[in-house]
Amino acid sequence: MSSPTNRPRQFASDNYSGIAPEAWAAMAEANAIHEVSYGDDTWTQRAADLVREIFERDCEVFFVFNGTAANSLSLASLCQSYHSILCHELAHVEVAECGAPEFFANGSKLLLLHGAYGKIDPAEIHRAVNKRADIHYPKPRVLSLTQATEVGTVYSVSELKARTEEARKHGLRVHMDGARFANAVASLSVAPADITWRAGVDVLCFGGTKNGIAVGEAVVFFDRELAREFDYRCKQGGQLASKMRFLSAPWTGMLKDGAWLKHARHANAMARRFETGLRAIPGVTVSYAVDSNAVFAKIPPSVEKQMHERGWKFYTGVVTPDESRLMCSWDTTAGDVDAFVKDLRELAAAK
Ligand SMILES: *Cc1c(COP(=O)(O)O)cnc(C)c1O
Repeated sequence: MSSPTNRPRQFASDNYSGIAPEAWAAMAEANAIHEVSYGDDTWTQRAADLVREIFERDCEVFFVFNGTAANSLSLASLCQSYHSILCHELAHVEVAECGAPEFFANGSKLLLLHGAYGKIDPAEIHRAVNKRADIHYPKPRVLSLTQATEVGTVYSVSELKARTEEARKHGLRVHMDGARFANAVASLSVAPADITWRAGVDVLCFGGTKNGIAVGEAVVFFDRELAREFDYRCKQGGQLASKMRFLSAPWTGMLKDGAWLKHARHANAMARRFETGLRAIPGVTVSYAVDSNAVFAKIPPSVEKQMHERGWKFYTGVVTPDESRLMCSWDTTAGDVDAFVKDLRELAAAK
């Protein structure tokens, strides 16, 4: 039986993991000497240039502390207070940001859309926009898509275009919550541009934290005009780091030789291994396609409880009802996955 305590790695969240070596090395290098503050430093310049390089576009880039800030400040920059933002009912901006998008946008309303497998049904965009056409309805302004989705599925290029084209038809801008953007790129094996600006995305919140950076997300505006005065918004929102180089330097380490994709590919592969293991256990069902680094599964409640007693940490019923979410990270090992599966198989068989 596995030891219930001092387990080195868990599956509750990909942000349980530490800092990837490439990010850590860049941070250490940035720590060697004094640097100019508030983002006017060479690290921040290099990190933004690397983002422009991988997106093949002269975009505007800002580094902020977390995903809630990235999402809510970027959405606020797209909206007036009387606008609305269309998002999936499971979207992080709706269920896990404590109303920050509405707060920073001074009251812009989120309109919730349905769709199977965590993906917005394109017909839902039409429905929400056309629900009312009068002045009494908050004017639809933005479509927010999450890539990879909250349940670990990934929109294909054509699935994305179907949604963004529908959005354009109705005059909406497109925001992408890419807390796990790296996992989506790794999953699809496409150029980052193919699932962002070339597919109709205006602003991307590019996640660094869950990919292996200590702290930070990049807000990437593909349309520079939308970034106007975003620097002021960041400062007012408490997101202008005085020692900005410690937010930006890790990005240089992750982006310069492709470590961001190497780590995402690895996390995705561990999730697929997990899926294979879980599918072989009677009484356990995998809920969605495992396109990225998340596996959602139904585990009998008594077995789930015993897994927790054995020291395994994971969430059940938080993102979706009755489903356990198992997240793989850049440092998850095959041994970690196999140990979990072995314990689960034992307990499920004894039930
Ligand atoms: C983790 C996550 C975020 C960012 O959350 P913070 O805790 O604010 O960094 C945003 N969107 C999604 C889909 C996430 O999973």
